[in-house]
Amino acid sequence: MKQFLKGLPKVELHAHLNGSLGVDSLRDLAERLYGSAPEKLLELCFIRCEKDLDACFETFKFVHELTATAEGLRYATELAVRDFAQDNVQYVELRTTPKANAHYSRRDYLEIVIEAIIEARKKYPDILVKLLPSINRAEPVDVAEETVSLAVELAQSYPHLILGIDLSGNPAKGRFSDFAPIISKAREMGLKLVIHCAEIKNPSEVQEMLEFGMSRCGHGSFLTQKEIELLKQRNIPIECCLTSNVKSGTVSSLEEHHLKRIMEANAPKVICTDDSGVFDTTLTQEFLLATETFGLTRRQCVDLTLEAVHHSFATDQERKKMAERVENYAASLQK
Ligand SMILES: [Zn+2]
Repeated sequence: MKQFLKGLPKVELHAHLNGSLGVDSLRDLAERLYGSAPEKLLELCFIRCEKDLDACFETFKFVHELTATAEGLRYATELAVRDFAQDNVQYVELRTTPKANAHYSRRDYLEIVIEAIIEARKKYPDILVKLLPSINRAEPVDVAEETVSLAVELAQSYPHLILGIDLSGNPAKGRFSDFAPIISKAREMGLKLVIHCAEIKNPSEVQEMLEFGMSRCGHGSFLTQKEIELLKQRNIPIECCLTSNVKSGTVSSLEEHHLKRIMEANAPKVICTDDSGVFDTTLTQEFLLATETFGLTRRQCVDLTLEAVHHSFATDQERKKMAERVENYAASLQK
């Protein structure tokens, strides 16, 4: 099964750039930047089993230090693409929060990532990479405003690369209602919206988010069965990130993961990594965990991948090509 899943041309729809660097990539990045990679630093970049969302967000700070220069950010983007390509991911929508520091502005940040993605395509031609700038809800609203206006502007220059806006960050911080008018503007300008929703228990906010609407729902761990039904009616998929949810403690165990409830309801879903680097996983591994925990068959894994193709923000032609790759792979194994 593992070999089958590794070879499957997978589709990753929920991946944060800074959290998606595996240990080899972090080592390569630290060596490029500092000439060596102290083991202690690498240790700090991984979340083993914190069972605590705040501790996870602390861990991200160490990774962010490695991408705090233009060179670090550019190389990290290339390495993230390399890691997904090595796992035989054929399509990834990378999310990232534009940051500003002494080395770059938020505009520079996005431009560096865009250029790095375009360059990485030459090295890794089998993977299609798209970008979703993120709003960090723990940051002030005016930062979100800047992010959205940059995303809207850059989407005009790179219409096949920048496809949407993500709302993420520590769900215990910030209020959705403060950001709603800003992301609403993004939607009016034609960008898709992906929202981290029901990651923690906050029924009133979940209701606000569902009323507001979204193209895809991130995590959805605390969605009620009624809310899952509502998403089903609206054909909004839930991005399920098994290892991430268990390691950050928002789901108590793999067996308790809401993917089971979502499958039983026959609601739209996609399997994603969230942060394959810091959570030490891969999309292959996430599929494997889903098969081991919930008894998915190979055909179900193929269908889940086709579901991800369908819910991606790629063009019709790109989605057609991706689906063909998946079907061809499945057919070649049946001979
Ligand atoms: Zn996420």
